[in-house]
Amino acid sequence: MQAQVEQWLKEGKVDIFIGYKKVDGHVMPHFFTKENIDEVKDLVAGQAHYSLEKVATKVAAEHPDMKIGILLARDCNQQALHVLYVWNQLNPNQIQTLEAFEASSDSEQPEVSAPYKQQMGLGKSMAPKDMEAFDHAERFSRWMYEFSKCLKCYGCRNICPVCFCKECSLEHKDLVRAGNLPPEIPIFHLVRAVHMAGRCIDCGLCEEACPSDIPLRLLYRKVDEIVQDVFDYETGTSPDQSPFSVLGEKVVLEPIPINE
Ligand code: SF4
Ligand code: SF4
Repeated sequence: MQAQVEQWLKEGKVDIFIGYKKVDGHVMPHFFTKENIDEVKDLVAGQAHYSLEKVATKVAAEHPDMKIGILLARDCNQQALHVLYVWNQLNPNQIQTLEAFEASSDSEQPEVSAPYKQQMGLGKSMAPKDMEAFDHAERFSRWMYEFSKCLKCYGCRNICPVCFCKECSLEHKDLVRAGNLPPEIPIFHLVRAVHMAGRCIDCGLCEEACPSDIPLRLLYRKVDEIVQDVFDYETGTSPDQSPFSVLGEKVVLEPIPINE
């Protein structure tokens, strides 16, 4: 991996390589360039808790002609790049990828919830079908319990590789009132969930970043299930697919009250 990056930088195949470096024991995003080529020996892949694709979008926005190399440290990174290509956030011609896949986060041990969360909320290792074993009223009350813990820190949005809007609905004063904690529930979380439709690649970074232990991945997995079942759209599978849109010619979903 290091030898390949060194070669790319020396040959000018990339102007910058975005990877990870261990700093004080923490694996952090790092820019490797020809000027600091000695640092390439410190390039690492595993235990990555930050999205390099998100970093790449910022670099590309400032430097549209820069040739950018990027490490694919997990198997969802390529899907994130596809989403960013179809939404015109990155130009595939500007990007060179280097695979260094580590074990996917799915191979981690499932997390066991504490007794109170088991009784009141929803577990982080639940699948949508486990959640749907509860009837509507109980599911609603369990989600409301989870959402009521939200600190509105925006960590879930800020870490997300495919959250890129310049103006965020979660900060729009007509949708989410300022100065309230928790933010209006469930609208705050549903606004984000709807915006993740056709974008979320199930990387799990939002859930990992959430200080309130809210099972965000479960919420977005359910959204993705609907996107696949109803719209026949598989997120992040190709750089050439159309951006996902929920706008169609006619209404195909039957609306039901939220607490039925
Ligand atoms: S799992 Fe969370 S952080 Fe990852 S793409 Fe989906 S919404 Fe974004
Ligand atoms: S990271 Fe968790 S606490 Fe922070 S805004 Fe997102 S859901 Fe709320």
